[in-house]
Amino acid sequence: MGFDGGCACGALRYQITGSPFLAVHCHCESCRRATGSPMTSYFGVGRAQVTWKGARSFYNSSPGVTRGFCGQCGTPLHYMSTRWPGEMHLLAATLDDPTLYKPTAHVHWAERVPWLIWNDGLPKHDGRAP
Ligand SMILES: [Zn+2]
Repeated sequence: MGFDGGCACGALRYQITGSPFLAVHCHCESCRRATGSPMTSYFGVGRAQVTWKGARSFYNSSPGVTRGFCGQCGTPLHYMSTRWPGEMHLLAATLDDPTLYKPTAHVHWAERVPWLIWNDGLPKHDGRAP
């Protein structure tokens, strides 16, 4: 139980030890295109907190940024950047129990699409959360 999740076809699974240190909605263009969704909800953990089962495929979406996905079904699962070494950001929509996810803020708010309306009262940052 806990923060376990995986891709749509089940070939790639992850298990999280401990708790995330970060949980935000990201509105940046890179996440929008990489996930095919108007925004992305993710949680941050240390890479050592993640155990993978199955083979990941990788894509460099911008310099220093690596995104991991299932090579069989294409589901995007995580983000890593050389700017935040040791961190891994996993896509909250891939959790087995997404109700565990407790977002605390919006980041890259200035890049949001205008056709989603938000009234969640969470802080909204134009860059990454401070
Ligand atoms: Zn898959």
